[in-house]
Amino acid sequence: MTNHTADTSTGTDPDAAVAALGAAARNVISSFDGDLPPGTAANTLERLTAVHRQVDALKLAMLAPIARMEASGQLLEESGQKSVKAYMMHTWGLHPGEAERLALLATGLHTETLPHTAQALAEGVLTVGEAAALASGAEREVKKRDTNTHPDAEQYRSMIETGLVGAKRERTTMSVQSLTRAANALGLELNPDRPEKNEEQAFTARGAQMRRAFEGTFHFQAWGPASDAEKLRAALESYTAPYDGHAPVPEHARTYDALVAAAGFAHGHHGCRNSPGPKALITVTVPLSTLVGVEGGAPATTQDGNVLATSVVRAMAPQAQLRRLVFDDRTGLPLDLGRAHRLAPGYLRTLAFAKHSTCAWQGGCDVPVSQCEADHITEFSHGGTTSAENLQPLCSTHNRLKYRRATHRHTGTRTGSGGKSPPEKTAPPDGTPGGGRTRHP
Ligand SMILES: [Zn+2]
Repeated sequence: MTNHTADTSTGTDPDAAVAALGAAARNVISSFDGDLPPGTAANTLERLTAVHRQVDALKLAMLAPIARMEASGQLLEESGQKSVKAYMMHTWGLHPGEAERLALLATGLHTETLPHTAQALAEGVLTVGEAAALASGAEREVKKRDTNTHPDAEQYRSMIETGLVGAKRERTTMSVQSLTRAANALGLELNPDRPEKNEEQAFTARGAQMRRAFEGTFHFQAWGPASDAEKLRAALESYTAPYDGHAPVPEHARTYDALVAAAGFAHGHHGCRNSPGPKALITVTVPLSTLVGVEGGAPATTQDGNVLATSVVRAMAPQAQLRRLVFDDRTGLPLDLGRAHRLAPGYLRTLAFAKHSTCAWQGGCDVPVSQCEADHITEFSHGGTTSAENLQPLCSTHNRLKYRRATHRHTGTRTGSGGKSPPEKTAPPDGTPGGGRTRHP
């Protein structure tokens, strides 16, 4: 780093400089004293912003000497704290989160691993707070990256940093929060397999637990992947009574009632051989290229912007209503919404399932047909027709597994197409029969 050498080169007495700053600060503080005379608010705000700019410049200038002392070991020798973060927390009383972000920025500037950030700070494009958020967003993404695809941490950090600084230059109003979100979106773009891995990990770690208390009460909690959250949310919503202004019941109580009602209904239909009727609605938007397995396409997202694993969306597709949604490339706005069509109507399902009593997985599986999903033997996206000959019952575990394997196969032979193809909207109306996969060994 350069230009942080005021304490040795200019000949100004550093202690006198601090004293002068103190005097100037007292002047500024007294200028904010007392009531605001009418008509001066705009002017005061301008002054506040100007003062803040000075504070920011001071904050930035203070990062370099501490980072240097950390690197040389002097920080530990002199202060007893071995890291910038620990020093800022214990000596300056900063919140751990803020100390960590500032420390990452300080170290990044010192080691010159954040050159675009340094440039943008110098130009006033970034505030110190924004630069610190950027440094920590980049660091988080470096830790989360797929190390097979991106073995070089510094190269990866540089990609994230370049993208974030570029985004901020383009849209100067970007907040710290949107910078953090942008870091996440960039990470997703650079690691297209992330939703798939998250889904797999969350599914492996899934669980539900009922804890009874002595007072005759209980606590129920469940955790798992994003796709199941969507199914569960949709199912619960379909059982939730609408809000009644005359006799208001809080939302959490109505959700509880929905859970009990849904469980009671499911229990009453335990031996039911009929295919489930339309109940829950999940709307997922997925680029056609992603659905058919072309690399580089944008991920599937729910209405709320939650990213879903492609394998899960593919597994849902046979039960879904597909609807073509055409976007205008220039404006990003939808141009046309096609007619919805169901892929596997009830009579086809009945025909196709007639020769099975359990999941048709080749390795054997005992999940009853009533809890299975209609699967296209030759994938829909590979020209498989929706006919009785091409449909088979698969439980949700094997449905997931089949499509996950298909996704992995495709990644080997993908073309480099840009993922700009028109998205499809899929809306599985059935929900997914619950419980099937939990019966697997
Ligand atoms: Zn199965």
